[in-house]
Amino acid sequence: MSYDDNNIFARILRGEIPCKKVFEDEWVLAFHDIRPQAPVHVLVIPKGKYVAMDDFSAKASADEIAGFFRAVGEVARLLGLPAKGYRILANQGRDGGQEVPHFHVHIFGGRPLGRMIAQAG
Ligand code: 5GP
Repeated sequence: MSYDDNNIFARILRGEIPCKKVFEDEWVLAFHDIRPQAPVHVLVIPKGKYVAMDDFSAKASADEIAGFFRAVGEVARLLGLPAKGYRILANQGRDGGQEVPHFHVHIFGGRPLGRMIAQAG
């Protein structure tokens, strides 16, 4: 799947659509999810053009990957999550339930998060 320059997160990165920003550096933008599924639900997206985990892990540079995952940890600390705990999640493709085709990690926290994944059916 080729990268769609008009996906919603590309438009947020270009400033064409507003977001509630939590953190930004040279590698990432982090902002609150528009439909939060936990008291804290923040998305961290790389600034590079990657559709999902598959091409990010295969094509991003070591600096991009390190910058991205360091930023995920930094955002969780900024949100005060490590002491009580939190969950990160990245959906990939159809079976993963990915809606937006720009790689992103969800950070969930603020309450006990229950089961790891939904049960089939
Ligand atoms: P996915 O299913 O692709 O892993 O998750 C996409 C996430 O993006 C969803 O949780 C959805 O609520 C969020 N989202 C979709 N459109 C927007 C938007 O315009 N702004 C923000 N802040 N979040 C969005």
